[in-house]
This record gives sequence, C-alpha cells and structure tokens, in this order.
Amino acid sequence: MSSNDTRPVRVRFAPSPTGKLHVGGARTAIYNWAFARANGGTFILRIDDTDPTRSTEENTQVILRAMRWLGLDWDEGPEVGGDCGPYWQTERLDIYREAAQRLVAEGKAYYCFCTPDELEASRKAAAERGDSFQGYQRTCRSIDPAEAQRRVDAGEPYTIRIKVPEDRGDVIVHDAVHGDVTFNARELDDFIIFRSDGTPTYNFATVVDDAAMGITHIIRGDDHLSNTPRQIMVYEALGAPTPLFAHISMILGADGKKLSKRHGATSVEEYRDAGYLSDAFVNYLALLGWAPDGESTVISRERLASEFSLDHVSKNPAIMDPKKLDFVNGEYLHAMSDADFAEKIVLPQLEAAGLEHEGQLAHDEAWYTLLASALKPRTTLSADVVAQARYLYTADDELELDEKATNKWLGKQGARAALEAARDALVALDDASWEPAAIEAALDPIPERLEMGKGKVFQPIRVACVGSAASPGIGETLALLGREHTLARIERALPLAQ
Ligand code: GLU
Repeated sequence: MSSNDTRPVRVRFAPSPTGKLHVGGARTAIYNWAFARANGGTFILRIDDTDPTRSTEENTQVILRAMRWLGLDWDEGPEVGGDCGPYWQTERLDIYREAAQRLVAEGKAYYCFCTPDELEASRKAAAERGDSFQGYQRTCRSIDPAEAQRRVDAGEPYTIRIKVPEDRGDVIVHDAVHGDVTFNARELDDFIIFRSDGTPTYNFATVVDDAAMGITHIIRGDDHLSNTPRQIMVYEALGAPTPLFAHISMILGADGKKLSKRHGATSVEEYRDAGYLSDAFVNYLALLGWAPDGESTVISRERLASEFSLDHVSKNPAIMDPKKLDFVNGEYLHAMSDADFAEKIVLPQLEAAGLEHEGQLAHDEAWYTLLASALKPRTTLSADVVAQARYLYTADDELELDEKATNKWLGKQGARAALEAARDALVALDDASWEPAAIEAALDPIPERLEMGKGKVFQPIRVACVGSAASPGIGETLALLGREHTLARIERALPLAQ
C-alpha cells in the first residue's frame, strides 16, 4: 500500500480448514483483529478451503469456535455475511475463472499445453546446460492466442500461466516487519495461476480475493514471504493496488524448533480445555513478538485494540514459553473479584469435575465466595481449583491422607498434643461463630502454650482435615470444611499422630 493510498483499512485472516487453529494462526488472527480495531478498520474472516482433500467443514467449525472463544469478532465473513462474499473460497471458483480468463484476454496470462513429462524434460535439459534458472522456459508464451484458443476449444488439457513482464526488473516487497525484500523477477517464473483440473492456485485465488475484498494490509506468517513477489505479479496483472505486507515470525518451542506436539498443546482448543482464560491467552500471544513499550506482560484487550501497530512487531522467531503463559493466566485470575471467580471459575470447574451438580448447590453464596477468596491466590490455571477443593467434597472417612505429609507431620513428636489442643479449642466454638477469624483466634494461642513452632501445630491439623500439608490459611480451610467435619477428621487422625 503506497503512502498516498487513502483506502480505509481492511484486513483479513484467511485460515485453511485443513486442521485446528494453532497458536501461530491464532496470533496472526489476533494481530489482524487488533490492527483493524486500532485503525477503525474492518476485520474479515475468509475460509481458504480450496484444498478439497484436506479441508473439512468440521475443521471450519472448529476454527470459528476458536475465533469466538478468542473473542476475535469479525466484521465480514462466515455467520455475519458482508458485501464482499461469499467468504468461502470454494464458493468463489467462478470468480477466479473469470479473472483468469480476463487476464488471458488482456494478454497478461496465457494457456500452457506443456505436459508434466515435457516440463520435467525441459527442467533436466536446463540443469544439464548448467542454467541457473530451471523453471518454466516460457514455451507456450509465444503460441498465437487464436491458435491457443482453438486448442482449448478442441479439449486439449491446459493450465493458465501468468506472463511476468520481460522488463519487470526486481520485485520489491515492502514489508512492515522485514523492511524491503528484493526478489529477482526472472526467478519468479511464468507460474501457474489455474491448474489443468480447473482449480486456481493459492497465489492466484488469494490475490483475486484480497483485491476484490479491498484488503489494504496483509498480515500473515512469514512462511508466505516467498510467495509474495508472485502475488505482487498478480496484483499488477489485475490492475489492483498492492497492499502493504507484514510477515510475522513463526512461533517456536523452547528448543528453537517449530512448535509441535512434542512441545505440548499446539491448538487453541487444547489451551481452552486446559482452562486458560481467553483474555490471558490473547494477551500472551499478542505480546509474543509485539510490545507497546517493551516491558508490559499484561495488556488489556482494550489497550491491544487501541495501541496495536505494525511498527513494533519483531521479525525474530517468537518462543512459546508455557511458564510465562501460566503466569499471565494467573494474573488474570487473581484480578477477578471473588464473586466472579466463584461464578466463572470455581463452579464450572467443580461441575466439570463432577463434584458439584448443576442446580443443586451444596452451600450458600457466602461459602462459595469464601472458597473463591481462599483458592484464588493459589490458582494459576482454572482447573487447579479442583484438587484444592476436593477435601470439601469427600466424606470424612474417605479422605485420603497423603503418605509423605502424614509421615512428616503426624509422625512427629507433639502432633497428637497439637491435634488434641486444636480439638479442645475448636469444640468451644459453636456453629454460629464458625468463621475464619474466630477459628484462627481459637487456635492462635496453642503454639506458645505447647511451646511448639506454628508449623508443628497447624500442619498436623491441615493433614488431618485436608489430607495434605498445602492449603489456604487454616482459618479459611476449616471454616469451609465446617465444624462437624473438622472435629470428625481431627478425631480420625488422632490415632495416627505421635
Ligand atoms: N490460507 C492461507 C494459509 O492458511 C492464507 C495465507 C495468507 O494469509 O495469504 O496459510
């Protein structure tokens, strides 16, 4: 897009539905979305489903769901429509055919009748001659158009090739991330835009669509950078303005290799199912290769949508760091109110784990809010709440005591004395005063009285009541469990204590 191009910003994300939406694709989608929002532009979703063997409707649905989960609303595309539809490439085949035929009629493309064997023989001959160019030798470029048309009409198989102008010189890709990248036009070949089976090639269909849809900026993975000079040839042949390109880096695993299953989750839905928050996930991916100021790790969606620019996108490969993602996710969880955390995280997670049953809440709202406030600071992933809350959903006589914690804390001299003192102090509290502060006040004097460290007193209580030595503050832990269960569990652990 030249600097005097005043067209309103229109960008597109054009996934091929040949698989799930992966983190790399998700980041491309995020950048397109954010760029459109930051520039008051239009974000288009187009389904590039021209590969019939690998594209499926199911994958399309998975991608649409992932986009919805990511919160990347599109202004034109599947489900929302728009003036430039259809937004599925398979529904645009006539458009590509007409465009290719127009280029042939204008002398900017031509029919090629070379068979695969002939092409291979010509390539071999060029190699034997030591020719550095081993592409298409433009054999059919000189066939008289009327003669070519006769052969087509007679049913001879053909492809359509673009005519790269003789005098085109270098093709320079103006890229917002990589700067100017120069390609030698001769290397581009008179490449095929229409195959003999009547389908368009990617480089052709993409440009026909991007031109027809008025796309001004193309933000996509840098695996497509080498396609771009060919696409520029198509824009020029079509007489359409060339957009500005921004080829963003690949996302790699910590070992510097292409992200794959070996590194763990790769698709958006795996992250969703693992309990990451959409906002945190979008935040993390957005900052993987782009930074408004070089230091933020947390950036709100609003800031992303107002401040995103292509100026600060790094061309270095981005490294997926699951620990950092977890950290960002934790930041988002910790920023939620207790009520929100209870409703959006705790309850759905406990229901999904089969602990809570929808519509049959075991406790009152205050209890869930207390549970939320107790668990929130210790939660990095939503699913973490399940293990932490399990002690509250287990019958007293079925609570399993962690062996290590039991040996360590109940097996220590003084554990029994601590449990007995706790029991006696807690028995004195009635149900009405069974809340964190009162419980803590009742237990507080025990360490001094028994001349024992706090850990030696409180850890045996935790092990007895929770089954492990890790839990929120003892007051909250026991308040949530309730008076009756607390006393029963202490009683049950006494015989195990030294
Ligand atoms: N369907 C292509 C892909 O998924 C789109 C590439 C492009 O953005 O031009 O790689």
